[in-house]
Amino acid sequence: MTTDAKTGAIEFQAEVRQLLDIVIHSLYTDKEIFVRELVSNASDALEKMRYLQLTEKEVFDENLELEINITTDETAKTITISDYGVGMTREELQENLGTIAHSGSKKFLEALSESGQKEASLIGQFGVGFYSAFMVAEKVSVYTHSWSQDGEHLCWSSDGRSGYEIEEAPGQRRGCKVVVQLSEEQEEFCKSARIREVLENYSSFVPFPILLNGERINTVEALWLKNKSEISEEQYTEFYKFAAKAFDEPRYCMHFTADAPISINALVFVPGENVERWGMGQTEPGVDLYCKHVLIDPGCKDLLPEWLRFLKGVVDSEDLPLNISRESMQDSALLQKLKQVVTKRFLKFLDTEANSNPEKYEEFYGRFGRLIKEGIATDHAYREQLAKLVRFESSMTESGKSGSFSDYVTRAVEGQEAIYYQIGPSREAIEAGPYLEAFKARGIEVIYLTETIDDYVMSSLSEFEGKKLVPVDREDVKLDELDESEREGESMPEEEVTRLCTFLKEQLGDRVEAVEPGVRLLESPAMVLVAEGGMSPQMRQMMKAMNPGEAPPLNVKLQINPRHDLIHKLAQASQSSPEVAGMISSQILDNALLSAGLLEESKDMVERVYAIMDAALSKDG
Ligand code: ADP
Ligand code: MG
Repeated sequence: MTTDAKTGAIEFQAEVRQLLDIVIHSLYTDKEIFVRELVSNASDALEKMRYLQLTEKEVFDENLELEINITTDETAKTITISDYGVGMTREELQENLGTIAHSGSKKFLEALSESGQKEASLIGQFGVGFYSAFMVAEKVSVYTHSWSQDGEHLCWSSDGRSGYEIEEAPGQRRGCKVVVQLSEEQEEFCKSARIREVLENYSSFVPFPILLNGERINTVEALWLKNKSEISEEQYTEFYKFAAKAFDEPRYCMHFTADAPISINALVFVPGENVERWGMGQTEPGVDLYCKHVLIDPGCKDLLPEWLRFLKGVVDSEDLPLNISRESMQDSALLQKLKQVVTKRFLKFLDTEANSNPEKYEEFYGRFGRLIKEGIATDHAYREQLAKLVRFESSMTESGKSGSFSDYVTRAVEGQEAIYYQIGPSREAIEAGPYLEAFKARGIEVIYLTETIDDYVMSSLSEFEGKKLVPVDREDVKLDELDESEREGESMPEEEVTRLCTFLKEQLGDRVEAVEPGVRLLESPAMVLVAEGGMSPQMRQMMKAMNPGEAPPLNVKLQINPRHDLIHKLAQASQSSPEVAGMISSQILDNALLSAGLLEESKDMVERVYAIMDAALSKDG
C-alpha cells in the first residue's frame, strides 16, 4: 500500500486494480447487478449486527432499526444505499475495500486468468461484489461508523481508477451509507422507477425491510419456515439466487421440516454447476445456519460433511441456543445431530430423485459425482447410502449410458459372489484389453471406471450388499471353467507349455514373479495379473508420483494362452531362433503391461520393436 502524503490517497492493491479494470471495461452487460451487490452487502452487515446484538453489550448507536434505506436523486445524479449494520473501522475499510482478502473475488481472478477471454460467459456467473458499483459510477463514497464504540466517523471514496481516500466525516450513524455518483451514460439508475424494477427482481428475500425513497418495497419472510404448498417454483429459484448469491438456476431443491430428534427447517439447493470442475479450488461451505430466523453462522463449516460443500441454502433449528458462540458450536452435540439428520435426508432425497428421473440425475452425477465418490473415500458413516448413488458405464451398458450397483446386482449371474470392475483410461481402452474376454464368455458384467480416484473409492467401499468389489486384473479372481466347446484353438501339450513358461521366465527375469498358462484367456495371447498382496496400477502410479525415482516393485504374473496361434509359434521359435523369440517375449510382456496401465517406459520398447521389424523383414527377404 502506497500513501501519497499530500492528498491522503492510498493505492489499491494490484489485484483490485486488475479486477476493477475487468469490471469496468468488459464484464457485465447487466449493469443493474450493482444494486443487488450493494443491497446484499447491506443485508450481510445487518445480519452480522443482529448476531452481535445477541452477544455484545457495548454497541454504538444502539437503538437503530435493522433496515436498508435506498434513495435516488435525479438532480444530483446519485443513488444512495444505507444500512444500520456493523459498519467499518478505518482498518476494515482498507482491508475490505482496498484489497481482495476474501476468497470469492480472488478465485474469480484466478479462474479468469486460467480460462482466458473465451470463457467470459463463465465469469458472468460470479458476483464481484462491491466493485461492481464502478460499472455505473464516476465516484463511490462510503460513509461509515463501526458498531464498535471506539470507531471513527469516516468517509472512504474512490473513482475506481488507481486508489482511494479515507477522510474524517463527523456525524455518521452506525453502519454504512454508500453514495454512488452515476456516470453520464448510467443516469437511468437515479430514477426511482428503474431501481424499483431492479429491486423487485432481486431483493424479495432480503430478510430486512428495504425502503426506496421512504416507501417499503419488500415483505420480509423466511421462505424456509413456510409451508411447501405455499411456495412456487419461481420463489424457490429466486431464493436460491439470493441465498447462494448465485446467477444460475438450481439443479435440485430439497425443502423439509422435522421435529424429532431435533427441530429442523431446511431448504437446500444443488447449484447448476460444480465450479470445482473449472479449476477454481475447493468450494467454501454454502449452507447458512439459522436459529429462529437469526443467522448464526454463514457458510457453517461443521453443519455438513466436507463432501457436501457444494450445497447452498439454509438450515434453521429452534433447538440451538441463540447466544451460542461460533467457537463453542463446533463441538456441540446438537450440531452433530443436525449434520446427521440433514445429510441422511439429503442422500435419501438424491436416491429418490435418481430413481424417479434418471436422466436428470445423470446430469447431476456428471457434475457432482466426484463429490459423491469423495464422500465414499473419506466418510465411513455414509458409505452405504453413498454407494447407491454411484453411477458407471459397464460391459452391459451402452456407451454414454450408466447404471448403478443395484442394477449390476440384478444382472449378476447365478452364484456370482463378487462385483467386478476395471479401471482404465477410457471405455475403448478397457474394451481393447485382454481382461474382459473371460467375463464376457461367462455372461458376467464388468464395471468400467475411468477416474484416478476410482481405485481408492472402490477399495474404501470394498463391498456392496455383501458382494466384494474385485478388480479384474487380480490374480485371485476365480472363474468357472469353460466347456471345451466354448474354447477356440488347440492347446499345446502340457510339457511344451511348461517349457515355454520356463523360457519366458528366463527371458523376462525379475520383471515378472512367474509365468504360467492362463485359463481366463480366450482371444488374447497374454495378460498380466497383479499378484496377491501386489499394488494396484493406480496405487502404484500415486506412489511413484509421491516418491519419484523410487518405483515400487511390479509384483505381476504373466499368463499366456496355450491355445493362441502366436503362443504356438513362439514355442517353436524359442527353439529355432531363440534370439528373436527372446525379443518377442519381452514385447508380449510390454503389451500386457500396457493393457494393464503398468508400462512405465517406452524407450526400450521402441528400440525392440524396430529390431523385431528388422528380423521379420530379413526373414521374408
Ligand atoms: P463479499 O460481500 O463477497 O465479501 P464485497 O466486495 O461485496 O464482497 O464486499 C467486500 C467486503 O466489504 C465485505 O466482505 C464486507 O466486509 C465489507 N462491506 C461491504 N459493504 C459493507 C457494508 N454495507 N457494511 C459493512 N461492511 C461492508
Ligand atoms: Mg458482497
